[in-house]
Amino acid sequence: MSFELLDQLAREGFEEMVALHDRRSGLRAFLAIHDSGPGRAFGGIRRWSYYDEEAALRDCMRLARAMTYKCALARIPAGGAKMVLLDRPELHVENAYRHLGEVVERLGGRYYAGPDVGTNSAELALVSERTRYVTDPGPDGPGELSESTAAGVVAGIAAALRHLDGGEEWSKRTIVVQGLGEVGSRVALTLRGYGARVLASELDFDRAELFAKQAGIERVDPTQELEMPCDVFSPCALGGILHDLSVLRLRCRVVAGAANNVLASPEHGEALHERGVLYVPDYAINSGALMRGSRFHLDGVREPLERIAARVGAVVEDILAQSREQGLSPACVAAREAEMLVERRCLER
Ligand code: NAD
Repeated sequence: MSFELLDQLAREGFEEMVALHDRRSGLRAFLAIHDSGPGRAFGGIRRWSYYDEEAALRDCMRLARAMTYKCALARIPAGGAKMVLLDRPELHVENAYRHLGEVVERLGGRYYAGPDVGTNSAELALVSERTRYVTDPGPDGPGELSESTAAGVVAGIAAALRHLDGGEEWSKRTIVVQGLGEVGSRVALTLRGYGARVLASELDFDRAELFAKQAGIERVDPTQELEMPCDVFSPCALGGILHDLSVLRLRCRVVAGAANNVLASPEHGEALHERGVLYVPDYAINSGALMRGSRFHLDGVREPLERIAARVGAVVEDILAQSREQGLSPACVAAREAEMLVERRCLER
């Protein structure tokens, strides 16, 4: 490792980092618990083919910390965690997820696992064979989570447009969605249904083709979506896409989407602000699934989509209003607000 892991954990306030290995399934994974102080930490399991272990570790830490911020802004009494499972040819996927279920069960409810990139209903069903502390994808669980995320993203986009122009005026809007997966496809469909012009990029050519035909959505080449002139660019694929070079290519007024850690680093939130692009912080807008899952785990309630959309919309409105009042970027305001809420919670304990 070329970075000092323990120093990094201390600097960023992590409770624990667990390295996992299972010889039988070929599993290699990390679990980062950033904050379980309120009694539990929520976070999905990401399965990805990382360049190396350090890349996996860094991703795990960034995602776990973002979950703490997400919980704080959504006023959920929980902290953040994340598991990353290193995808590689030797991995026996089914047994690896069952093994992760055993690890989660041993933690006794300190960590609740959920979906993330590479981990959807089929994988969660394997985890739930071994633990109660997972978002059950079946009829006994909280129901469709990506739908909740998509509803929140659409509500956040609406809040951003109202903030800029006083109304949504969907029929006059052009929106570019990057990634037509679980969340992006729903966001695209909803916005198209509202009458917006929707363009979308997707790496999976067949899926993009089919979707475009069925839904009346225009396709954009996945190397050109950033340059498309539009009202809103909605990143719903992977994180880290807004960096020194890509920020200069954007021709949108708003960036608002589901992708976690969309900024390569916090400075890029400032770069967007300086360029006059309204950035809706990822952990403010993509918390719909967390709201739905946590409410179910904590209170046994399946919160309706409209309620989730209203909650996300209110969080986004508040961040944008504070940003305008204080003359600070939304990224800066959201980080300060989340840190203040976490600090306050620590003092109350
Ligand atoms: P997904 O894997 O179902 O979909 C992602 C899609 O993006 C895939 O179809 C993939 O082919 C496409 N893609 C990847 N790179 C691309 C690129 N460069 N250009 C165009 N398309 C590209 O994932 P998802 O569940 O829809 O989640 C999308 C993002 O939202 C992820 O970053 C995830 O962490 C985040 N998120 C998801 C949820 C949820 O409820 N699913 C909740 C919070 C955050």
